[in-house]
Amino acid sequence: MKNGQTLSDEVSKITDRFAELTGHQPDGVWEAPGRVNLIGEHTDYNGGLALPFAIERHTTIALRSLEQAELRCFSTDYPGWSLNPVSAIRPGAIDGWPAYVAGVFWALVDKGWEPHGLELLISSSVPSGSGLSSSAALTVSTAMSINDRFELGLGQDELVDIAHRAESEFVGAPVGRLDQTAIVGARASNALLIDFESHSISHVPLKIGPLVVVDTKVKHANVEGDYAQRRLECEQASNALGYASLRSATLEEVETRLSGTLQRRARHVVTENARVMSTVDALRSGTSVGDAIFASHRSLRDDFEVSCFELDAVVSVAERCGAIGARMVGGGFGGSAVVVGVEVELLQREIDSAFSKVAGVIPEAFEVKPSAGARRIG
Ligand code: ADP
Ligand code: MG
Repeated sequence: MKNGQTLSDEVSKITDRFAELTGHQPDGVWEAPGRVNLIGEHTDYNGGLALPFAIERHTTIALRSLEQAELRCFSTDYPGWSLNPVSAIRPGAIDGWPAYVAGVFWALVDKGWEPHGLELLISSSVPSGSGLSSSAALTVSTAMSINDRFELGLGQDELVDIAHRAESEFVGAPVGRLDQTAIVGARASNALLIDFESHSISHVPLKIGPLVVVDTKVKHANVEGDYAQRRLECEQASNALGYASLRSATLEEVETRLSGTLQRRARHVVTENARVMSTVDALRSGTSVGDAIFASHRSLRDDFEVSCFELDAVVSVAERCGAIGARMVGGGFGGSAVVVGVEVELLQREIDSAFSKVAGVIPEAFEVKPSAGARRIG
């Protein structure tokens, strides 16, 4: 749903466009939100903790089943469309954005679904490549729509699995499970505490604010090297310590038994898990979150080395404006920051003035509210 629009506006808009493109009404309409991670970055693939919330920006999908065995994909936001015989859907065979949709299709077939022809239209207000997870909003909305339409009876964990396999195995982005878990499981007015070791979730009322996202407009390239490199380094660090994941490691072990790059990567993960827990305790007891969110940013900047000039500059501006916390969100190397406790107008003014002194694009701040997870809307 886009700002100011009601649900029924959104449903009629995508339904009308679907009818123009295909000559038919869709069988249904579903939406999946983008997400912001309040704290707990690069912890998901390390058996750690994270605390994301869903935002009121959505990827909407209109879907209709077809008699012929074809997958036809349209997007209002991306040029081109794709048509593939369902028998040709396999990893490596489909390029560009339709690979996310085809990946869901493939993962469902791999799970035993009898493939069925489909046509679908995607429309999204989640900015793409900004670290707000437009990719998982796309895979989750697709997975949920097929699950509902064909009454597959998949539960939340299975939908997360399907969406995650689509992105990691089919598209080939080595992502963790944070985005899909948040987008499937989120609840309005709450953040979602995810434990990636026990695979459990719990809802944490999110009453601090305002919550502001700042899109630096610097595009990351998740699918490529740096992210994969960080994952590899974390694996090497946990292997060196003799653990299955860094979740089991203590700060003392990291500081005494590791050195150099591996020590810094592992220290980020271990301290980040502790910061997630201190933030959850503060939110639950209504006390101050203290320095945890700023400390997360420093750790991502210095130990994990995934920040960039623009993200650091936004966090400095937020600090000067008296924020409760500010940090980069998502994989890093660009994308967005989250700022807690500064009015969006004030923050944007200060960002405009700080960035007008340096070359490049001016980051855009917008307020977000913790919202519901993926659901059927029409
Ligand atoms: P992020 O998840 O941070 O937004 P990613 O690089 O992981 O960034 O995913 C962005 C990709 O998701 C786009 O390049 C495109 O392939 C796909 N995508 C996102 N939004 C849409 C959309 N509205 N229609 C079609 N594809 C989309
Ligand atoms: Mg993504």
